Amino acid sequence: MKKKGLLIVVSAPSGGGKGTVLKELFRRNENLKMSVSATTRAPRPGEEHGVHYYFISKDAFRQNIEDGAMLEYAEYCGNFYGTPKAPVQAWLDEGYDVVLEIEVQGGKQIKTVAPDCVSIFLVPPSLEVLEKRLRGRGTETEAVIQERLAAAREEIPHVLDYDYTVVNDTVEQAVIDIQAILEAEKLRVSRDQDIVERILNHA
Ligand code: 5GP
Repeated sequence: MKKKGLLIVVSAPSGGGKGTVLKELFRRNENLKMSVSATTRAPRPGEEHGVHYYFISKDAFRQNIEDGAMLEYAEYCGNFYGTPKAPVQAWLDEGYDVVLEIEVQGGKQIKTVAPDCVSIFLVPPSLEVLEKRLRGRGTETEAVIQERLAAAREEIPHVLDYDYTVVNDTVEQAVIDIQAILEAEKLRVSRDQDIVERILNHA
């Protein structure tokens, strides 16, 4: 039987460049699956339903919560975001490692329901760099940029609740750091309780 995959929580302030880091991480790792979240926010230019997010109404979101179909959910900057449970469960059972790219309230919920998850907080080198990256994206109004910066100030202290922190200075180093974390986590004795029996009985 294939070993169950790792459940990986990645949080980072919005605009911190986590999209680029995760894209590169996925390019280098075939065993990774990205959970596609549901959200009530409007799509940004270029975002596709079912690829970047499932863009759904607030009523549909509430229904999903009621049906117990969400692994976690949170309200962030006036919109709901949540992780559909079924695909994550199926991928983990098939042995894939699954990344949830979610904010800090959701990260906390996952630690409660799945304490063996690996949580990583990707921090920008500074708030100045974060602001520059947010503006560089060019898709947000000034009001939204200010709102996201204020959210980042509130989010960054939550790094203390996470297992690991990675500074997103260069994409290359951030990807190397995340890969190192995942490799080490897979070698944890607690994830391989049959090891003694396996080795002694097959000696
Ligand atoms: P954005 O609107 O920039 O795509 O995302 C805003 C925030 O929501 C980001 O911090 C992102 O990580 C988070 N987010 C995206 N999907 C989910 C989700 O399913 N659950 C939670 N709790 N947060 C999410």
